[in-house]
Amino acid sequence: MESVLTDQGRLVMLIALCSVLWALESIIPLYRFRNSRVRHAIPNVALTVMLVITNLSLSFSSAYLADFSVRNGIGLFPFLGLSSWIQIIFGVLALDLFAYFAHVLLHKSWLGWQFHRVHHSENAVDVTTAFRQHPGETVWRIFWQLAGIIVFGIPLWVVIVYLIFSGLNAELEHANIRLNRRVDWFLRLLIVTPNMHKVHHSRDQRETDSNYSNIFSIWDKLFGTYTSAIDLRRLKYGLDGFDVKERQTLAGLLKMPFMNYNRV
Ligand SMILES: [Zn+2]
Ligand SMILES: [Zn+2]
Repeated sequence: MESVLTDQGRLVMLIALCSVLWALESIIPLYRFRNSRVRHAIPNVALTVMLVITNLSLSFSSAYLADFSVRNGIGLFPFLGLSSWIQIIFGVLALDLFAYFAHVLLHKSWLGWQFHRVHHSENAVDVTTAFRQHPGETVWRIFWQLAGIIVFGIPLWVVIVYLIFSGLNAELEHANIRLNRRVDWFLRLLIVTPNMHKVHHSRDQRETDSNYSNIFSIWDKLFGTYTSAIDLRRLKYGLDGFDVKERQTLAGLLKMPFMNYNRV
């Protein structure tokens, strides 16, 4: 168990699932994209490496805050005196709720959207899209994670369990795989599924403005932002005006938040 909870253990799990999904995308693809998969993956993988580096360099802050809140009895959980099992369930749920708010604000604030459109400008969503996010967005998400840790008093091991589930589900929900509708419906009772998150990547803004949940589908259902199903045959990914080559390179994606592009 200990080795799974280390940074290296989590990385190995993420790479393993990514490899399985990458293979499945060849066998049961949801869409057949025309471009080379490897060439398409290059900027996404580069952004993923940046995300790992940003996370590793800031991981001390989560460790410090979690330790500080537990030792000083700060936060809701120590106040309520919850047992370990209850802490893990509510801790993971609480961090996921904060991730939902962090995501909604990335869409609803001007500055947030400047950064988050790096993720949404993807026009061929696949498993490599999972961590296609600007380092500025990563910092924003870590800030919300830290807020969750301090408000609820979440121990570090619960934060790590959350990060494992969050990372693995991010890969699953972005994977370009065709999932049986019944299986998708069943899984969706609990988690965000590939078909559910694909709606959020729609080029149609009314659909983009829904399905913000991270691991658990409950938040969209609870806050009225849930879109159950759309016709996946007419779904188009990306943002109008962002398909040009210069905006899809690594350099183009890194400077995107600082450019005055309009969504056409
Ligand atoms: Zn989004
Ligand atoms: Zn996404």
